[in-house]
Formats: sequence, structure tokens, C-alpha cells
Amino acid sequence: MKLNRKDLLGLEYLDKDEIDLILQTARPFSELFTRTVKKVPTLRGKTVVLLFYEPSTRTRTSFELAAKRLSADTLNITVASSSVVKGESLIDTVKTIEAMKADFVIIRHSMSGSAHIVANTISASIINAGDGMHEHPTQGLLDLFTIQQKKGRIKGLNVAIIGDIAHSRVARSNIWGLKKLGANVFVVGPSTLMPADVEKLGVEVHYHIDKIIPKLDVINILRIQRERQEQNLFPTLEEFSEIFGINSKKLVRAKNDLLVLHPGPMNRGVEISSEVADGKNSVITEQVTNGIAVRMAVLYLLAGGEGGAGENFDS
Ligand code: ASP
Repeated sequence: MKLNRKDLLGLEYLDKDEIDLILQTARPFSELFTRTVKKVPTLRGKTVVLLFYEPSTRTRTSFELAAKRLSADTLNITVASSSVVKGESLIDTVKTIEAMKADFVIIRHSMSGSAHIVANTISASIINAGDGMHEHPTQGLLDLFTIQQKKGRIKGLNVAIIGDIAHSRVARSNIWGLKKLGANVFVVGPSTLMPADVEKLGVEVHYHIDKIIPKLDVINILRIQRERQEQNLFPTLEEFSEIFGINSKKLVRAKNDLLVLHPGPMNRGVEISSEVADGKNSVITEQVTNGIAVRMAVLYLLAGGEGGAGENFDS
């Protein structure tokens, strides 16, 4: 099966079968990582440009490694040393990249909708690596992949997303993806960090974790997105941490096999304690490893590759 799409802009726009196809295609790529040679020739001759207007550690390096493991050429544009600081617009920057015949542009930008604008402007495949508060689809996909890998399914699981829901693109991509694959989704946080009408996305809203913790199969803990907040939306970090921060005391009544996810970067001692981040329930490092396989699958499928679990990508 093929994806038949030029771009990956958000999980809102994919249907269940398309999400399943990406997750299935990521599986053989993740198996590659156990080999001594982790590289396949699939995207030889293709050029992948990484255009990041916001800071990133995991996502940028993960995309770069994914492209390199598929044998594509990669080019990093560091905005701080590009013509952007001379006042060049996003449109002019991407038209310049197009003129250099890039096949993929992976973009992160603080403006929600920026990836859509770029996708409508140039013919290269665009992958949204985070657009403002809107979506971060490959993070959503790697979270789904990790849950499926550990639990064997997504359907029917009780998954809570905890913290700064309002400003989180990870929350939105997770909600779309989890709902489409049949999970029960709970969002937990202070009312000031809850988006208006979030129930309309089919989630249950809670302002305390204690009541629902015993029934949860997965928790996904979010960082407070200070960079997207114009005013103080809660009194102090200490108070936020006291009520919403996840520590081992809060997990006493949780299921033994609860999965703990965090997209990173973590603020240890704020939204998550070190005990939990490094504890037996945490799959945070697996998320990072899986992110590469999922991004390989996305690049491969957008390039027109035939997906599915049984594919052989060696030639
Ligand atoms: N790395 C994720 C993002 O770019 C989460 C975060 O920054 O808190 O949205």
C-alpha cells in the first residue's frame, strides 16, 4: 500500500489506515537498528533540507539520522546564520530551497499553519516538525508506535495527556492519532492550560490526576511551553509541580504496567520527577529510538515507497 500524499502536515488530516500504514512501515525500519550496518539505499539521490526556526535537539537530529540511514543527502539550514536574520521571508527562503531542487523540506516554525503555507508554495514534500501550538505529527506517530510496541494495541487503552495542553502541539497530534486508533483519551491540567472546547476533540477533561490514575494504561507528560505564554497562567512552578507534576507518590495507585511517555525536553522536578523519568515504567529513551524508525517510514512513504510490515528495504 502507498501513502499517496505529498506532505505530512498533521495527524488531523490522515485517516486510520494511513496512520496504520506508517506505523507498520516503521516496524522493519526499527529492526534495522539491531544490525551493524544501519543504512539502506532507499532514498539514494534524494535531498532532504532541515529548516528549523525554533530550537530542537531530538527532532532535528532524529530526522537527519533517518534521512542518512535511508542514504539521502541532508542539508541543515541554521536560521541564526541564514538570510532570515537579514529579513528574508519564509516564502522567499523556501522558494530558494526549491530552486536548489530539494526533494523534502522538514520545517519547524513558531507560527501555527506555517507548514501548510510552505506545502502550498513549493513542490517539494513538506514534513511538519512542529508548527507553533498546532501539530507535531511525527512526535504523535512515534508516541503511537511506542505504545503499540509495548502494549500490542492502541484500541481501548486509557491514555492521559498531562500538563500544558493549551500550548502543546504534541498534545494535539496525540489526541488526533490516539482517537483515530480507538484509544480513550483524557487530558489533565490546570484550567488555564486547557484549550477552549477541547472536549469537542472527543477527550475527557480532568483537573486532577488522582481520580483517574488507577485506570490509566499510558500517561504522556508535557513540558510547560513558557515560550508560547504571554502571561503567567499559574502561580508558581512549585505549585504546578505539587498538583500536576508526576512523581512516584502520585503513581502509587497506578497499574503496574503503566507506560510513562514524555516528548522531551524534560524539566525534571517540574512536570516529572527523576524517579519517574528514569523508573521502570518510563519508555522515554525508547521513544527517541523509535522516532528515527517512524521518520524513516514517513520519508520513505512520501517518496512513493510501498509500505507495510513485510517490506524489504535493502535494495
Ligand atoms: N519537543 C516537543 C516540541 O517541540 C515538546 C516540547 O518542546 O516540549 O513540541
